[in-house]
Amino acid sequence: MIYEFEAKPTNARNRNAHSMDCDKCGRESVMHAAYSGLHLCEEHFLASVDKRVRRRIREDDLVPDDATPEDPQTWVIGLSGGKDSVVLTDVLHRTFEQDPRIELVALTIHEGIEGYRDESVAACEELVAELGIRHETVTYEEEFDVRMDDVVEKDPENMAACAS
Ligand SMILES: [Zn+2]
Repeated sequence: MIYEFEAKPTNARNRNAHSMDCDKCGRESVMHAAYSGLHLCEEHFLASVDKRVRRRIREDDLVPDDATPEDPQTWVIGLSGGKDSVVLTDVLHRTFEQDPRIELVALTIHEGIEGYRDESVAACEELVAELGIRHETVTYEEEFDVRMDDVVEKDPENMAACAS
């Protein structure tokens, strides 16, 4: 089951000749929220994302009744180090920081593409250390005894289709 929380950032200053003000507080907006039509400053944008995530969790009943602080449910977050997964990890951390019924585990997959993942894996490690959440890193090599570089060498056409 994959839940995707999506926001579509647009830069108000690039879209318009003059910048727009936050609809909630009047400070300079950094964001035009496509879902609400509101212009929001950084603080109010983050608050609105948190609120939407919490509402979604509640409405979709994602925290099961039998999850307790003593016997929490584990949620695995796919953390690639890209901005979407970093934001999701951050938001879920804030959401469940004070709610021990859910235990978060960040999972990073290292495909074994030389130089490609190393930097983002380091970014992932930095983030989880900062947030204090459990982190598992798996590599294709360890799990499946195959490196993506080898796959590319053996089947370059298939890999090109993947990347496009
Ligand atoms: Zn504001």
